[in-house]
Amino acid sequence: MKNIILLFILVIVAIAGLKTYRNAKEEKPLVVIMMGAPGAGKGAHAQDLSKTLNIAHISTGDLFRENIKNETQLGNMAKDLMDKGLLVPDKIAVDMLFKHIRDNGFDKTGYILDGFPRTLIQAKALDERLARDYKKIAVNLSIDEEKLVQRITGRLICKSCAASYHKENLPPKQDGICDNCSDELYQRDDDTEEVLKTRLEAYNKDTKPLLDYYQNKKILKDIDSNDTKEVVFENLLNTVKS
Ligand SMILES: [Zn+2]
Repeated sequence: MKNIILLFILVIVAIAGLKTYRNAKEEKPLVVIMMGAPGAGKGAHAQDLSKTLNIAHISTGDLFRENIKNETQLGNMAKDLMDKGLLVPDKIAVDMLFKHIRDNGFDKTGYILDGFPRTLIQAKALDERLARDYKKIAVNLSIDEEKLVQRITGRLICKSCAASYHKENLPPKQDGICDNCSDELYQRDDDTEEVLKTRLEAYNKDTKPLLDYYQNKKILKDIDSNDTKEVVFENLLNTVKS
């Protein structure tokens, strides 16, 4: 009887041990790199993905603005350069991002990157820091230019709560009024076809090499972003989970 109990305990310990080993092996923190043209839906999908997967959504645009507002050392350095009309060097952008990741413990849980990397240098810096300890996936939300123009030029935003609507696709219940907080809706000055075309040109020029880079690393997944938000998100989620 004593032997049987001992054997039983041994089996349990062995199974538990094997399971822990497997988990340690398979469950590397996930890092999702969101790519796609301005207006392709990176921010909104990153936000939904963050809620569903329960990992952080890091918008580097927001992060830089926050650093500058709070006058952190890196923020001040970036602001000095921007005031002089210069671009913020990759080194400062990378340092700001990884300080944020470390300070919040996201390096242990994984995260979704939105707005980073923008250059090959940044992509390589990211690779160096992540090494082999992460499961990396780069998602490219691809969308037809015509569709993009229609989306961008119809966009309406609430002055108070920043909720986003669309003149045709997602109109508010009452014309020009936010459903959530009843404040006024407005159209951003830069949400015009002309500005979009300029931004698209810059995007295509800067980002194309990045897509090739991730394609060569075999971690690039294309998501057709022309469909409805729900369908696109379902595809995105399936892709990230697979
Ligand atoms: Zn509102």
